Amino acid sequence: MRVKVGINGYGTIGKRVAYAVSKQDDMKLVGVTKTRPDFEAYRAEELGIPVYAADERFLPGFEEAGFEVAGTLEDLLKEVDVIVDATPGGMGARNRELYEKAGVKAIFQGGERSEVAQVSFVAQANYERALGKDYVRVVSCNTTGLSRTLSALLEYIDYVYAVMIRRAADPDDSKRGPVNAIRPSVEVPSHHGPDVQTVIPVNIETTAFVVPTTLMHVHSVMIELKKPIEERDVIDIFENTTRVLLFEKEKGFESTAQLIEFARDLHREWNNLYEIAVWRESVSVRGKRLFYIQAVHQESDVVPENVDAIRAAFELADKRESIRKTNRSLGILK
Ligand code: NAD
Repeated sequence: MRVKVGINGYGTIGKRVAYAVSKQDDMKLVGVTKTRPDFEAYRAEELGIPVYAADERFLPGFEEAGFEVAGTLEDLLKEVDVIVDATPGGMGARNRELYEKAGVKAIFQGGERSEVAQVSFVAQANYERALGKDYVRVVSCNTTGLSRTLSALLEYIDYVYAVMIRRAADPDDSKRGPVNAIRPSVEVPSHHGPDVQTVIPVNIETTAFVVPTTLMHVHSVMIELKKPIEERDVIDIFENTTRVLLFEKEKGFESTAQLIEFARDLHREWNNLYEIAVWRESVSVRGKRLFYIQAVHQESDVVPENVDAIRAAFELADKRESIRKTNRSLGILK
C-alpha cells in the first residue's frame, strides 16, 4: 500500500516533509498548497509537484501571475489519505474541521496546542500511541530534541531542569528579531516542559531565552538522578540512541556553526541535521546530577517524525521498522 500524502503549507517544515515523503516507497506525494506563486511555488512546479491554492481566495493571485494550480485545498483533500498540516502555528486547529469533513487523517505540527490531535508524537519515545490514530501532532523542534535524549535516560530521571537557548528566526525569515538582544521568556517555567510531558512521563521544568542566531537551538540540560549512572554509560546510551549524535569540541565542533557545516559536508538537503547533537565533553555527572548540552536543528529534526507519524497512523510498520526505513531514506546516520 502507498499512502497518498498532501502537504498543506509549503514553508520551512512543509517543503522538507514533502521531500522526505517523496523518498518513501510506501508513500506518494500527491501535492502541496501555496498561498501565492512565490519562488517556492515555482520550485515545486519545477520538481513536478502539483501545487494547489491553499484556499479559493488565493486563486486570483495565481491567475494574475499565469501560474496554473492543480486546484484548491478542497480538491487536494479529495485525492489524499492524509494531509500534513504545516501551516503557521495555530492555523492547523482551524483546518482540522476541513480535514474531518473530507475524511482524511491529519498530521499537525508543534505550533498547535496538544488538543488539536489524539496524540503528541516523537517516534522513538511513543510510536505505539499513534498506531491507527486519525490525528497526530508532531511536537515542536525543541520538544522533539528534549524527548529524544530524555526518553533514552528515562529510568534514571527524578527531575529535569533545562534551559532553552532559542534561535531568533529561521535563516529565510528576514522579519523577525532580536538582532542585538537576548529575550527571556518571562513565563517561568516556560511552556516547553509541559509540552515534553505530552510525550513522555517525566518531571521537567524549563526556562527559555531567544538569542540573535538563525542556525540552531541549544539546550543546557540538568537531571537529578533517581539512581546512579556514570558518564561513560550515558555516552554509551546516547551512542545507541537513534537520531542522537555525539560531537566533540576536540574535533572542532565548537559551536552550532560547525554542526551546520558538518551537515553541509554531508551534502544534506538544505543542510538538514535531523539528528540531535550532544556535545560529548558536556556529559558530566556531579554527585546526583547529570549535565549535558545539546543542539537542535529547528528546521529539520521534526521531518523524520512526520514520516513516522504517517506510518503509525496507517499502521504500515512497527516502530523499529518505520524508524529504520525513514533513517535510511534520509541518510540519517543512526
Ligand atoms: P513557515 O511560515 O515557514 O511556513 C508556513 C507555510 O504555510 C508558508 O508557506 C505559508 O505561506 C503557508 N500558509 C500561510 N497561510 C496559509 C493558509 N491559510 N493555508 C495554507 N498555508 C498557509 O512556517 P514553518 O516554520 O514551516 O512552521 C509550520 C509549523 O511547523 C508551525 O506549527 C511551527 O510551529 C512548526 N514548526 C516549525 C519549526 C521551525 O523552526 N520552523 C520547527 C518545528 C515545528
